[in-house]
Amino acid sequence: MQEPIALVNEQPQGQPCKLHPQSMCPAFGALRILTRIEGSHPVMATDMGCLYGLTFITHFYGASKSILAPTLGTAELMSGEVVEGTRAAIDVAAKEPGCRLIPVISLCVAETAGMPEELLPRRIGDAEVVLVRVPAYAIHSHPEAKDVAMEALLRRMGDRETATEKRTVAIMGDVFPGDQLAIDAVLRRMGVQATIALPGRSIDDIHRAGRAAALAPLHPFYKGTIKLFREWHLPVIGGAPVGISGTYAWLKALGATLELDATVVNQIAEEERERAQSMVDAKPLSGRILVTGYEGSELAYARLLIEAGAEVPYVSTSIGQDPLVLPDEMWLRSHGTKEIVYRKALEEDVSALERYAPDLVLGTTSFCSEAKARGIPAVYFTNQLASRPFFLSGGMVATLEFIQGMLGRGKQYQWMQEFFAE
Ligand code: SF4
Repeated sequence: MQEPIALVNEQPQGQPCKLHPQSMCPAFGALRILTRIEGSHPVMATDMGCLYGLTFITHFYGASKSILAPTLGTAELMSGEVVEGTRAAIDVAAKEPGCRLIPVISLCVAETAGMPEELLPRRIGDAEVVLVRVPAYAIHSHPEAKDVAMEALLRRMGDRETATEKRTVAIMGDVFPGDQLAIDAVLRRMGVQATIALPGRSIDDIHRAGRAAALAPLHPFYKGTIKLFREWHLPVIGGAPVGISGTYAWLKALGATLELDATVVNQIAEEERERAQSMVDAKPLSGRILVTGYEGSELAYARLLIEAGAEVPYVSTSIGQDPLVLPDEMWLRSHGTKEIVYRKALEEDVSALERYAPDLVLGTTSFCSEAKARGIPAVYFTNQLASRPFFLSGGMVATLEFIQGMLGRGKQYQWMQEFFAE
């Protein structure tokens, strides 16, 4: 008799299967950034299935403009009409009022079929046409696709002709808008002339980033953009203004890189450190928290929680392992984190629930549902955490107050679980 076929989630070696989708299509990260730019009218080269799913989710997240696409079904692909169809869509995009940028987002199918850049226009009317290659199957996570989009835009549009603007820094991070303003305010007090917030809404900021004196990526997945700034021989400031020690070290590093007045920098870095420390001393966290998500910022959140007094034995993220993540990884391991999982699967997070019996989990919708079903308080990472301030002492206070409130809700969650179990 024939052996029954193993279910995809039941791998023979007891390993979790990572073949099924663990999050939305990674290309969404690139699309989110490219649709938000004012004057940008994206063209998406892909087949109908991807087009439907990606436009749906992009509009769900607030894109208020059409995403143009050629019809690419089997017939068009077989007859090699990918380029012709894309050129026709570019022509339509260029007629949109105020169009200054047409990002051509070439996804899995178009990349596999072949999208020769030299056959696309570089400019049409007032608009730059920029090919953004996003073979999403090879990019793996939507944060990393944001980097792919930013690198493509900066490579093409960063202004390298004009002199560098000294004491101007490009702050790279898709973060809560208030965080960019808070960082700008603190850096100006230190003597920074201007900050350029990327990814943002302004095409002029993309041009201007080429004239910045340094890049400060707030997340460790902006690999391509960092590589580009290094090619331009511009310094890159590592780390991020997160938590007590992270903020202090970042402000000092930024001050040294931009050659700001060391006394002023020191004074402001000390102020930030004291404010964050006094907040933690007044209301330290107590409890065990699992930090899981697919934003690529999970290691930074774990650091902040540990500095505030929490125990974080398990951290997982959708981004891959990379030397840029190493400082955070080493810090976490030396502060009690036992497991750090890259390119994680939901099954790995669920199995961590069994091992660590947490008081709170931060995670994706599916993981939070699983935790809540077990009576454990759970916070949806994207909507509840990434949508509030996080950086500098002000962000730390906002995030920790929220976490404090959630940690105190264990009894209500257990009551709910028992209520529905009856
Ligand atoms: S085929 Fe590629 S672009 Fe389309 S949904 Fe899948 S991963 Fe995304």
